[in-house]
Amino acid sequence: MDIQEGAAAARDCVLDFSRLSLNTFSADSISDERKRDIRQLYLNNNRLASLPSAVSLFLNLEFLDISNNGLSTICDGITRLCKLKTLFAKNNRLDEFSLPKEFGSLPLEVINFSGNRFEEIPLQCTKLLRLQSLSLGGNRLRSIPTEIENLTSLEMLYLGGNLISAIPPEVANLPYLTYLVLCDNRIQSVPPQLTRLHSLRSLSLHNNLLTYLPREILSLVQLQELSLRGNPLVVRFVKEMTYNTPKLLELAGRTIKSRNIPYSPSELPSNLVRYLDLASKCPNPKCAGVYFDSCVRHIKFVDFCGKYRLPLMHYLCSPECTSPCSSSSQSDAESEEENSVPADRLQRVLLG
Ligand SMILES: [Zn+2]
Repeated sequence: MDIQEGAAAARDCVLDFSRLSLNTFSADSISDERKRDIRQLYLNNNRLASLPSAVSLFLNLEFLDISNNGLSTICDGITRLCKLKTLFAKNNRLDEFSLPKEFGSLPLEVINFSGNRFEEIPLQCTKLLRLQSLSLGGNRLRSIPTEIENLTSLEMLYLGGNLISAIPPEVANLPYLTYLVLCDNRIQSVPPQLTRLHSLRSLSLHNNLLTYLPREILSLVQLQELSLRGNPLVVRFVKEMTYNTPKLLELAGRTIKSRNIPYSPSELPSNLVRYLDLASKCPNPKCAGVYFDSCVRHIKFVDFCGKYRLPLMHYLCSPECTSPCSSSSQSDAESEEENSVPADRLQRVLLG
C-alpha cells in the first residue's frame, strides 16, 4: 500500500529507497520491529538536502548509502547509529563543516566522501580508529593533516583528484596502509619516510608534479604497482649539482672512516666520536668513501623491470663520484644496482 514499503528490498535486513526522487524520508510507516531488523539502508540517488533525522531510528544499521543527493549537512542523529560500519556519501555538497561534532565516535570502517566539496579532511574523520578505507577523491583538499597518523587501522587511502601539494611524513605511520592513491594532485616530492609503509602494495602518483623519487622507495618490498605517468619526471641525467666544499673536520672524518682508522672514546672527545659515527656510506658501489654534511645531490636512473627507468634521488660523496652514472653509459656500477632490484618487485611501473 505504501510506496516506501513497496520499494523495500526482499531481504529483511535491507531497506532500499534509492532512485525515488525523494525530498524527504520518513520512517513512520515502518514498524519498530522492522526498524530494528534493518542492517542496510539505501537512500542514494534522491533529492535529499540534509540527512533525514529518521535515519537515526534504525539503531542496528551497519551500512548507509546516501550518495548522489544534494546533501550539504549530516545531522547529529547519525551519531546514534552505534553499529554503523560503512557510510557512502559520494557526490553531494558536503564540506568540513557538514559533519556533526561527535562523528568521530562512530565505529566506521569504510567512508566514501568522494565527489564533495571538502577543502580539508575533517578532523572528526581522523578520530575514527577503526577506519580501514577512506575515500575523499575529487574534492578540493589542499593538504593532508598530520593527524592522519591516528588512523592506524587504515588500509586504503584514496585522495586522487584534489589540490594536494605535499605528502606529510606522518602518512608513513599507517602500518597497514596497502593502497595509497594520490593521483591527479600537485605533489612535487615524495618524503623518504614512506619507506616505512611495509604493507604498501599500490602507490598511485600519476598526474602530479614529481621530478624525482627518493632512493628509499627501493625498500618498499611489498610494492607491486607504482603509477607515475603524467609527471615531469626528469628524462635524462641532470648535470647541475649542488656541492659545498667539505670543511676540514669533514675531510679528516672521511679519511678516518674510509681508511678504517680505529678510534675510541678514550682517545677522542665524545662529540667527535658521535660525529664519526654519523658517517653515511657513499651509495656508489665503486666508491668506498663516506660523507657527513657535504654531499652531492644526484638523480640517477634505476631500471626496475627491464622496461622502465625511474629517476631516484641519490646522495654521493663528491662530484667525481657521479661520473660513471650518466644515463647513457652502462657502467658496472649502474648494472650492479639494477641487478640488485628484483624484477618481480615492481610488476607494474607505469611511466608512459
Ligand atoms: Zn663516493
